[in-house]
Amino acid sequence: MAHEQRKLLEQLMGDQFSGSIASKTANLTLTSPQVCRSYLAGTCPHDLFTNTKQDLGPCPKFHPEHLKIEYDALSPAEKQKHGFEYDYMRDMQKYIDDCNRRIDGAQRRLEKTPDEIRRTNALLKTISDLTKTINTGLLEIQVLGETGSVSLAASEFFKVRTAKMAREQAEHDLKSLSDTSGPSGHQKLQVCDVCGAYLSRLDNDRRLADHFYGKMHLGYAQMRKTYDRLQQELKGRPPPHRPEDMAPRGDDGYDGGWGDRRGGYGGGGYRGRGGGRGRGRGRW
Ligand SMILES: [Zn+2]
Ligand SMILES: [Zn+2]
Repeated sequence: MAHEQRKLLEQLMGDQFSGSIASKTANLTLTSPQVCRSYLAGTCPHDLFTNTKQDLGPCPKFHPEHLKIEYDALSPAEKQKHGFEYDYMRDMQKYIDDCNRRIDGAQRRLEKTPDEIRRTNALLKTISDLTKTINTGLLEIQVLGETGSVSLAASEFFKVRTAKMAREQAEHDLKSLSDTSGPSGHQKLQVCDVCGAYLSRLDNDRRLADHFYGKMHLGYAQMRKTYDRLQQELKGRPPPHRPEDMAPRGDDGYDGGWGDRRGGYGGGGYRGRGGGRGRGRGRW
């Protein structure tokens, strides 16, 4: 359950509620699979976006305060032995990947509207059809000229000239369509490459500040920063050996499959996607 929601429930229900949570978490230890390791090692993503558009809902695991205090008091070597930072990274990676997919989708939608794509395709087809007409026409004029059919050649020449003018017009329309569509054109919109929200270039400083200091944007900024920092720190460190994770999956939904994901953090994660991130950065 998200921290804030739990606090609210505690206030509403008093000892009754905290009592039932306390009795459930009293027997848990640092290594219990029901305990949220992101919460222990940092900030649970479920707590970052409460009451925003990206609200992830309550965390399915427990966030026992006494265990976080216990974890915080451990020495770096003891923390390292637990390896919860790997679980934290895996958790964050899931949400960062989701966010990056949203950014790419939003970016693609900005580039051209379906109507603009349809009109572009229609113009391209017109241009190709007219080019065919012109080329066969020119060939025919040549043949007619060689056989001395001057008046037929002249009327064919007229057809070719009309087709050429129509093609010029279509090419002109295509150029103006590509000049006005997409992010450089009428929409004046840009996708925030941290949180995926649409930003308008016409927004004033006040509205932009509201965005950059908003909970959702700051939540993703914090998560990306923590992820990058941990990735640096954990580089070359072997993942934790956890015999208990190899046990069959319990009914709490804990995914004990660390073993088969070993080595999954070398590749730089989200930076590998198609050149999207960083696009347009610095223009704000
Ligand atoms: Zn959690
Ligand atoms: Zn943002």
